[in-house]
Amino acid sequence: MDVFYHSTRSKDEPVTASMAILKGLSEDGGLFVPDRIPALDKSLKELAGMSYQEVAYEVMKLFLTDFTEDELKDCIRKAYDEKFDTEVIAPLVQAEGAFFLELFHGATIAFKDMALSILPHLLITAARKNHITREIVILTATSGDTGKAALAGFAGVEGTKIIVFYPKNGVSPIQEKQMVTQKGDNTLVVGIHGNFDDAQTGVKRIFSDQELAGEMAEKGFQFSSANSINIGRLVPQIVYYVYAYARLLGEGRLATGEKINVVVPTGNFGNILAAFYAKNMGLPIAKLICASNDNKVLYDFFATGTYDRNREFVLTSSPSMDILISSNLERLIYRIAGEDAERNLAFMEALSSHGKYEITTEMRAALQDFYGNFATEEEVAATIRRIYEDCGYVIDTHTAVAACVYRKYAEETKDGTKTVIASTASPFKFTRSVMEAIDPQYASMGDFELVDRLSALAGVAVPKAIEEIRDARIVHDHVCEKDEMKDVVKKFLGIE
Ligand SMILES: *Cc1c(COP(=O)(O)O)cnc(C)c1O
Repeated sequence: MDVFYHSTRSKDEPVTASMAILKGLSEDGGLFVPDRIPALDKSLKELAGMSYQEVAYEVMKLFLTDFTEDELKDCIRKAYDEKFDTEVIAPLVQAEGAFFLELFHGATIAFKDMALSILPHLLITAARKNHITREIVILTATSGDTGKAALAGFAGVEGTKIIVFYPKNGVSPIQEKQMVTQKGDNTLVVGIHGNFDDAQTGVKRIFSDQELAGEMAEKGFQFSSANSINIGRLVPQIVYYVYAYARLLGEGRLATGEKINVVVPTGNFGNILAAFYAKNMGLPIAKLICASNDNKVLYDFFATGTYDRNREFVLTSSPSMDILISSNLERLIYRIAGEDAERNLAFMEALSSHGKYEITTEMRAALQDFYGNFATEEEVAATIRRIYEDCGYVIDTHTAVAACVYRKYAEETKDGTKTVIASTASPFKFTRSVMEAIDPQYASMGDFELVDRLSALAGVAVPKAIEEIRDARIVHDHVCEKDEMKDVVKKFLGIE
């Protein structure tokens, strides 16, 4: 049975999966949601015997119903190949009484690769299916990891251009270097004076600019989004939760039907929403544990029922989670508002005009499966140090937020359910913060000296993604104000 996608903000006609991927965001500013969440049609026992690619097909075929089997398998094959440094694609490591699901073995060593290595292929296939001849322009705001992963995915892909905006002083030195050294004529990377939310708001504004859309069409361009609001990113992220469960089952670490908890370090709410969708497909997940850093807007939301972005934006050592507007939360709000677009729209309008909204008691009751907590900067550093000292396993700052929150949860609730922690970045991506957490004396060392030291300490080879940027030339040095973003886009596309 086909799955169609409709906006969270209006009752407009539903669109096919391929159209939803092409559009990224609905014209009314809403997010596309599936009209139903399909149930897994293979048993977990069957899935346990499958490779990552096979599980990916079994999950994605249920959501992307207008893709043929050949199309989908072709996209999956091109995405999950030797770009990953391990055949299992997403290994599980047992430490600290939990299973760390390592989602950072792709081209840019952060979990964004899990979806962004397949999105370009889904997008091009979707364009072909819908007879789109215009060139696709990917416009993306990044808090650091999306940018590079999207650049790596789209660089050199014919029929596409990609423009990435990032907060000039809001990403790690390695993240910035990864982006500004990106090769490919179809790529543009621009720093903005502002934070991630400014970049994201700017991008959303450009997307909904009808006048610009007209000018673009005349010149043979159309926008699409690689941000985590695109269902072409959300759906591939469901895969690894199913895969992780199936592997644990296959290895006898879980009994048939046994439930797990999932802990996700959260920013834009995309990764944890994928886990929520997996649960709704029938994966035995008990609690969805939402871990925040000092920008704890989600923790406050789960604790009080009020989402309030009116607060100081804090720069932390987990920059990919430095976000005050968690875009994908809208899909959950829509759902707990009874799939009522009008009600959801009222919340989103309140958010955009007053910076906050309060959900009803009845809506809060529908959030029982979620648990939220946060980790301070000191706690993040202490968690990295403790896990390293206890078992020699080195985790990055984002994963440490999750590990810390998991510990708080376990102590608070005494819940002994087996737990999977989404490990979202390689420690090599945040070397400085990680090494200074392990021992403050490392503060005096240079970035790449630290990389080598980390490699020795963790007993892990320096990933290719890091070797590549050691001596790479900077090719993007453009910085602009947040209200100049539209002009930058027009200039790059030759629209004056
Ligand atoms: C993007 C990112 C996150 C947050 O994921 P969301 O889907 O935005 O919640 C966490 N950790 C890392 C390393 C990331 O790159």
